[in-house]
Amino acid sequence: MLGLMQSHPLSISSLIEFAAGKHGDTEIVSRRVEGDVHRSNWATVAKRARKVANALGGEGLAFSDRVATLAWNGYRHLELYFGVSGVGQVLHTINPRLHPDQIAWIANHAEDRMVCFDLSFLPIIQAIHAKCPLVRKWVALCEAKALPTETGIPNLVSYEAWIEPAPDQFDWPSFDENSASSMCYTSGTTGNPKAALYSHRSTILHAYAAALPDVMNISARDAILPVVPMFHVNAWGIPYSAAATGAKLVFPGPALDGQSVYELIEGEGVTFAAGVPTVWQMLLGHMKPKGLKFSTLQRTVIGGSACPPAMMDTFMKDYGVTVLHAWGMTELSPLGTLGTLKFKHTRLSHEDQRHILLKQGRCIYGIDMKIVDDEGKSQPHDGKAFGNLMVKGPWVVRDYYKADGPSPLVDGWFPTGDVATIDPDGYMQITDRSKDVIKSGGEWISSIDIENIAMAHEAVAMAACVGMPHPKWDERPIVVVVTKPGATVTREALLAFYEGKIAKWQVPDDVVFVETIPLGATGKMLKTKLREQLHGYRLPGL
Ligand code: ADP
Repeated sequence: MLGLMQSHPLSISSLIEFAAGKHGDTEIVSRRVEGDVHRSNWATVAKRARKVANALGGEGLAFSDRVATLAWNGYRHLELYFGVSGVGQVLHTINPRLHPDQIAWIANHAEDRMVCFDLSFLPIIQAIHAKCPLVRKWVALCEAKALPTETGIPNLVSYEAWIEPAPDQFDWPSFDENSASSMCYTSGTTGNPKAALYSHRSTILHAYAAALPDVMNISARDAILPVVPMFHVNAWGIPYSAAATGAKLVFPGPALDGQSVYELIEGEGVTFAAGVPTVWQMLLGHMKPKGLKFSTLQRTVIGGSACPPAMMDTFMKDYGVTVLHAWGMTELSPLGTLGTLKFKHTRLSHEDQRHILLKQGRCIYGIDMKIVDDEGKSQPHDGKAFGNLMVKGPWVVRDYYKADGPSPLVDGWFPTGDVATIDPDGYMQITDRSKDVIKSGGEWISSIDIENIAMAHEAVAMAACVGMPHPKWDERPIVVVVTKPGATVTREALLAFYEGKIAKWQVPDDVVFVETIPLGATGKMLKTKLREQLHGYRLPGL
């Protein structure tokens, strides 16, 4: 027997209509690329999202065609979030920090039909447009009068001119809630980047979950500053949860320095902010010497990399701001766990609570989690045994978009590439990473790319890339090199060899020349051994 309740497909368009109808005058504030602070509200965002939907209707796109963005956090990007997905197309948020060749590869792989970009990224578009034959229209996120001339880019329009003639009324279509809504590429540990393809259903379920009190506790009483970029896993889903609750949004645009972020927090009464440790490092670095305090900030979610204990202490003790340590992945939309206490912990000493909160947190309802050994055998949840972290749930990928290999799932579980313990209360703690990648300032650097480029140098016989701890960027890559017999190359020459091949921030900080790199039985480089060998090494300048 089926239940007798109404069956409405979950849809992203319903979020924006709810926000507009019930919280229309709640503000959406954005620092723009132009430098000024722009004020909008949910009603206006909805009107303009409907204009986007109507304008898209004139572009001859098919259902599920990809519309890409290369944009900072801001109101126009938000309008595209709802307009593009709402009409049934797929919003493809591209990471502008990648090298233009990587961006072109991603845009072609996704088969993007349109690309909407902030003017700060015009040089990237000029570098890639000729390599992206499938893109029919390039939309600069600016006023008509700000559109640069003689860019060499065909079919270039300003966003404002594009949506201006379109009506602000639109009947959102209803379709299967499992239809694709947005996509985000993540650096592959082997081979090319891979895309998580989210659905309306997965996005809405994640939006509900993210707003729960034990998760981000998002409500209509919040003013939220997502410093985490909208091109990085949909700013951790905050735009959707904010619409579902009617929260105020405050967007930092391109200005992520400590002073700009602090001014926005204070000026807009921000109660909740989200970002990776590196941005909080910059914010605290700005505040401390000036003796500045927060007057409205209540909590901050820190994730993407482990939250350093000193950072948690500073926020909690010096500023009275609750730190929520979060763990997630692009493949998980991204939230998996969040660090909040249980009732039985509320009377513990501050030190004991701190010990719990520094872990990566407990599963959100919707996510199931286990740790397994290399043979796939489940390990106990005793807080001591560690194993490969596996997850499943309705907002976890089951496959990558246009994957060229088998599904990543093992018996229905997604292997995260993280190594963790889980304690009897369910708190997970990351202890290591089995995937061969480096995370710097919240963004991935592929060790394999770094190694392949070094190996292309005529003097290099073998190269291994490892991450070294860094106080600001969390990790920075170095490349360990064995030269060919009789061949020489200097550190400077090898670093110069990277120029133009990858983004500047992905270039290793140092080259370490060694006689041999430890290898395993199958000839695989043993990075753990290599790291032991490098014990005592310090990055240049530290
Ligand atoms: P995001 O940066 O939004 O978490 P990514 O897909 O870019 O998403 O990165 C996911 C990976 O980042 C995880 O598999 C893990 O290795 C690392 N990571 C994320 N959050 C944490 C955390 N709180 N502590 C340690 N590592 C983390």
